[in-house]
Amino acid sequence: MDARLEAIRDTVLARNPGEAEFHQAVTEVFESLGPVHDRHPEFLEGAVLERLCEPERQIIFRVPWTDDSGRVQINRGFRVEFNSALGPYKGGLRFHPSVYLGIVKFLGFEQIFKNALTGMPIGGGKGGSDFDPRGRSDAEVMRFCQSFMTELYRHIGEYTDVPAGDIGVGGREIGYLFGQYKRITNRYESGVLTGKGISWGGSLVRPEATGFGTVIFIEEMLKTRGSSFDGQRVVVSGSGNVATNAVAKAQALGATVVACSDSSGYIVDEAGIDVALLRQIKEVERGRLKDYSLRRSGVAYVEAGSVWDVDATVALPCATQNELDGGAAARLVRNGLLAVGEGANMPSTREAVAVFQDAGVLFAPGKAANAGGVATSALEMQQNASRDSWSFEHTEQRLTDIMVGIHDLCAQTADEYGEPGNYVLGANIGGFVKVADAMLAQGLI
Ligand code: NDP
Repeated sequence: MDARLEAIRDTVLARNPGEAEFHQAVTEVFESLGPVHDRHPEFLEGAVLERLCEPERQIIFRVPWTDDSGRVQINRGFRVEFNSALGPYKGGLRFHPSVYLGIVKFLGFEQIFKNALTGMPIGGGKGGSDFDPRGRSDAEVMRFCQSFMTELYRHIGEYTDVPAGDIGVGGREIGYLFGQYKRITNRYESGVLTGKGISWGGSLVRPEATGFGTVIFIEEMLKTRGSSFDGQRVVVSGSGNVATNAVAKAQALGATVVACSDSSGYIVDEAGIDVALLRQIKEVERGRLKDYSLRRSGVAYVEAGSVWDVDATVALPCATQNELDGGAAARLVRNGLLAVGEGANMPSTREAVAVFQDAGVLFAPGKAANAGGVATSALEMQQNASRDSWSFEHTEQRLTDIMVGIHDLCAQTADEYGEPGNYVLGANIGGFVKVADAMLAQGLI
């Protein structure tokens, strides 16, 4: 790392103790940015990096609610409004027991650059709670969401901060959150949340957008090597929103997705994942992946274990951070891996990324590859602002154009900085320069 940036990075780490994921995300971005500061000394003079690493606002609040047996439960809620240089804060809410400030800050920090890459007018933010929706009834989830929004509502708004979904937050949760916002504010402010239902302000393609967008990005990346998804053997981790839609799109482009996972285990289906069955089990029944193996012949279910033990030519990690380590990366590379596309945020450890890059594997970092979700959220905001709703085809074409644009920006930036094919460098520099320019133009705020 450039010595000037390393000193700033060390101060950031010391100011934010105990936030390992945030440290990792900051370090990963700083490692790319030395050459930009050679060309743009004004970024150092304006202390852009120091300002970028300090969120504009951080909100932590109590979320009290009662469970179905009448017991009082207390969770912790977060919203980190990281950077508004390019637009209102924008980023999802994560409900998962592992959530703490360090996770919200890593996600919010990544979101700044991701949102910049989309070219849409959106800043970066993220939020969530250590609430675990798994095993909770609809009524419990509703009471939790209502309590969460009873504090959050005062901090958000269509011109201020626009949350959406992430792990543990899908259409059901967005519905309860939106309902409570409307009730408290007495405003039908569609643009305050994205990921809404189609009949009440949502956008077609938003549910599919992150997974579809990831596959579209990887298809562009494969083209640079004269290849495509057609005929690839793909392994996907996770079986939630991003994973399911990545499976669907990869198979639509001619790949065979042979494995996917949840936090209990993974399935191997050599015939290719049956997307309709997967959706039925995960989205409709809210069941476990094990059920898939019980309902389809020729499917192996492996309890615990790592889905990265299954050979693939394309790997799409779509579950959670740091799920693919250096050892798994080395094994995949030994067995013929061509490309990796991060549908999740920071799913590959720094060691894994180094293994992929050293081996010449095409590697698409999450902040570029999974930006289709937030980009389509911005399209949802556009439709809300004009009280319009677009067709599936039109919206999917917009998503495709945006993903191709992000791919090209990353590839061109990597070329410009003398590291062709380095999408990590291209994404970090491409996103950073847009935000840094806007921050300097807006003065010291
Ligand atoms: P979902 O909640 O729909 O699905 C998450 C999936 O990952 C589930 O299969 C879950 O398994 C698995 N998972 C979650 N945590 C862990 C863990 N600690 N260990 C193992 N498996 C785990 O979330 P999404 O699909 O929305 O999000 C997946 C990733 O994509 C996240 O990194 C998210 O930040 C990122 N992302 C999401 C976007 C979106 O639009 N939704 C946009 C951009 C990025 P189980 O059910 O067993 O918990």
